[in-house]
Amino acid sequence: MKTRRLTEDETKTAAGILRDGGLVAFPTETVYGLGADGLNPEAVMSIFAAKGRPSDNPLILHISDRRMLERIVAEIPPVAEELMQAFWPGPLTLVFRKSEAVPSEVSAGLATVAVRMPDHELALRLIRETGRPIAAPSANRSGRPSPTSADHVLQDLDDRIDAVLLGEPSEVGMESTIVDVSGDKPCLLRPGGLTLEEVRRIAPETTVAGSTGHGEAPRAPGMKYRHYAPDAEVVLLQGDLGQQLAFIDEAHRKGLHREPFALMACQEMIDVWTGKESGLEMTLFSLGSRHQDKTLGKNVYAYLREADQAGIRTVFVESFKEENMGRTIMNRLKKAAHAGKESL
Ligand code: AMP
Ligand code: MG
Repeated sequence: MKTRRLTEDETKTAAGILRDGGLVAFPTETVYGLGADGLNPEAVMSIFAAKGRPSDNPLILHISDRRMLERIVAEIPPVAEELMQAFWPGPLTLVFRKSEAVPSEVSAGLATVAVRMPDHELALRLIRETGRPIAAPSANRSGRPSPTSADHVLQDLDDRIDAVLLGEPSEVGMESTIVDVSGDKPCLLRPGGLTLEEVRRIAPETTVAGSTGHGEAPRAPGMKYRHYAPDAEVVLLQGDLGQQLAFIDEAHRKGLHREPFALMACQEMIDVWTGKESGLEMTLFSLGSRHQDKTLGKNVYAYLREADQAGIRTVFVESFKEENMGRTIMNRLKKAAHAGKESL
C-alpha cells in the first residue's frame, strides 16, 4: 500500500481513514504514534501486524475529552482525578479498570485499559474529528528506537500504513509515564516524560513496579521485549566521569568494541572529552546541559537512528543518575544496551 503524506490541514482526511479502519501515524508531544480506531478490533489488530509487535503487549487509548474517558473505563478513582487535574493533557498514561466498550485486542486480554490525553494540538484535533479513542503505540517497527519525527516513521513504516500526518519533531522525545490507578495504591509501571518526582508531588503514595522484590510478571513495555535498539551496539558507560571517558580510550586501544564510535552524553561531559584531545575521532551527540533536565531525553532516539545512518558501530552513552528524567533515559538505554544479548 502507498503511504499518504498528509499535512496539518488534512486531519479530516486522516480521521476518515481511521473511521474506515485504516492506520494513520500522527505526532504527539512524547513520540509519534501509530493510530487505529480503538473500538474496532480489526483495525487494532492491523497495528500489531504493521509494527511486527507481539499481540500480548497492550495498547494505549488516546482521548481528547472527558466523555471519551467515561465511555472506556469502569471507574475513576479519586487519585486518578487528582493526577488528571494536574497533568492532563500531558505525558502521563493512567491504567484503569476497563469498560465493556474496550475490545480485548486493545487490552491484550487484561481487565484494565491504559488511557492518555496528549498535549498536542494536532493529535487532539485528530482524535476529536475521529470521534473515538485512538489506540496508538509508538509508530516504529517493533524493537527499534521510537520515532520522534515523521521521517523516522517513514524509515520504519513507509508502504506498511495508510497515512502519516506530517507534524513537527516531538517536544518530549520519550514515551509517556505509565501509572496504574486500578489497584489500592498508584503504581509506576514505566517512567517517561513526566517524572516520578512530579507524580509523587500529587500522589506521594505511588509505588514503583518491580521494586517490591516479589518478582512480579512484566506489566510494562520493555520489561519483556527487545526495545529501543539501533543496529549499532549501545554501551552504557560506568563509574565517575573520568572513568567513563577513560573506558572509551581503552576500548579503542584494545579493540574491545567495533568502530566507528559515537558518544551520546550531556554537553558537560562532551566538553571534558573535547578538552582531553585524546586523538580518537568520534561522533559526538550532545543531549544538552545536564541542568536542563526536562529536555535531556528529547534527542536520545533521534541520535540512535542517526548513528545507524552514519554507519556507527558502537554508541557509548553516559550513565545518568536515576532520578527525574535521568530515570527515564536510563530505563530506555539499559534496554537498548541489552537488546543484542537477548535471544529475541
Ligand atoms: P507503547 O505505546 O509502544 O509505548 O506501548 C504501550 C505500553 O503501555 C504497552 O507496552 C504496555 O505495557 C502498556 N500498557 C498498555 N495497557 C496496559 C495495561 N492495561 N496495563 C499495563 N500496561 C499497559
Ligand atoms: Mg513503543
